[in-house]
Amino acid sequence: MLHPWRVQGRPRPADHARGGREHGHAGPGDRLGRRPPPPPRLRRPRRRSALPVVLRHHTAQRFAPDLLADRDIARVDRRFPALTVLTLLAPALIGGLATMSWSGAVTVFFWASLVRVAVLHHVTWSVNSLCHLIGDRPYAARDKSANFWPLAIASMGESWHNSHHADPTGARHGVRRGQLDISARIIWLFEKAGWATDVRWPKPERLADKLNPGYAPGLGRGVRDPR
Ligand SMILES: [Zn+2]
Repeated sequence: MLHPWRVQGRPRPADHARGGREHGHAGPGDRLGRRPPPPPRLRRPRRRSALPVVLRHHTAQRFAPDLLADRDIARVDRRFPALTVLTLLAPALIGGLATMSWSGAVTVFFWASLVRVAVLHHVTWSVNSLCHLIGDRPYAARDKSANFWPLAIASMGESWHNSHHADPTGARHGVRRGQLDISARIIWLFEKAGWATDVRWPKPERLADKLNPGYAPGLGRGVRDPR
């Protein structure tokens, strides 16, 4: 569950980003700081396109044209139905083969497919709901976004949501002392390996400008470019 939209060149499916943008994230630009290019000419829908597909494509065109224009992400986006089937059935297959039983297949399907996907979705939605209701607000943001520590590990750092809204393009959301941000660490590793480029690490001076009264700067070590 790496959140590669924090890194240039490694985006995630357009739908995902679209969800965030509809929710008011990252405004017209995204976390990469890029503003979307003007929407490309709409392709004529294929004959077999059902209405939901057309609507979905239209929404993605509206909210994430830059991501749709990205070759890698378009490829993942196109294969999303097949990937969904794979991610649900592969655990069941492994469970069945490992135990050579149907009950093994069903048990693993329940925990490793259904429960896993349900938990993932609930964590994601919680970031966009709970993290606008409760938590700490060290930075000024135009919304009620808050840093909610209980979700830090489950959300891999996304629940430092106040910091995210204060500095939407930052690759690290856990900018304050002691705030664990697993995604930021993975991005850092990818950067070291040369797979991620132009990573936007948070700038202390930018964060200092947005500090709410009563809060000490309290920035963590990882805030400065860790290279
Ligand atoms: Zn939010």
